[in-house]
Amino acid sequence: FNFQQVSFLTSAPDIRALPADTGIEVAFAGRSNAGKSSALNTLTRQNNLARTSKTPGRTQLINTFTLAPEKRLIDLPGYGFAKVPLAVKEKWQKSLSEYLQQRQSLKGLVVLMDIRHPLKDLDQQLIFWAVESQLPVLILLTKADKLGPGARKKVLLEVREAVLAFMGDVQVQVFSSLSKLGLPEFEQVLNGWFSD
Ligand code: GDP
Repeated sequence: FNFQQVSFLTSAPDIRALPADTGIEVAFAGRSNAGKSSALNTLTRQNNLARTSKTPGRTQLINTFTLAPEKRLIDLPGYGFAKVPLAVKEKWQKSLSEYLQQRQSLKGLVVLMDIRHPLKDLDQQLIFWAVESQLPVLILLTKADKLGPGARKKVLLEVREAVLAFMGDVQVQVFSSLSKLGLPEFEQVLNGWFSD
């Protein structure tokens, strides 16, 4: 699969405005600043496909990209920014859980977490919803270059151990947009989802 052959499809203000629910799509989610935009740019070898966040928490759109006919990447807005009003947070959580439950074309969810701050409450909530919907999850422990090899391995094993509790299809890998660590493994999982 050539992830480089990516093009911008739409910016949707909410889940209802997403492209038709056909084909295969993979969604990307994570706390603001987790490194989601950087990971999308690294995957697709683009410098500015997904804009890296300058103002976390501002109302964000759901950006969608096409890799091939009927094969899409969905960039969900970052969550967990403290200054967002509670009502907005609750509305977003409701539509996100509906998306994970109802979207037929959704074949996998990539959850990005800073390797130094893994498995926060909202990350766990998201993984719970995905597993409940029988959706495969790939956790990327991002910015892995910030830790040495020993510490990196330790967090990886801890997170793998912790996600056993979800009793679902949840894989965990380390990743760095800076050093490209974990990129081949990341691509392998996506290739599997897109070829289902
Ligand atoms: P987003 O809010 O999840 O889209 O996160 P961004 O991709 O905008 O990244 C947030 C911050 O983390 C930026 O300052 C990035 O430069 C930095 N960052 C992202 N990925 C990496 C990485 O792999 N290594 C390092 N050291 N920094 C990263």
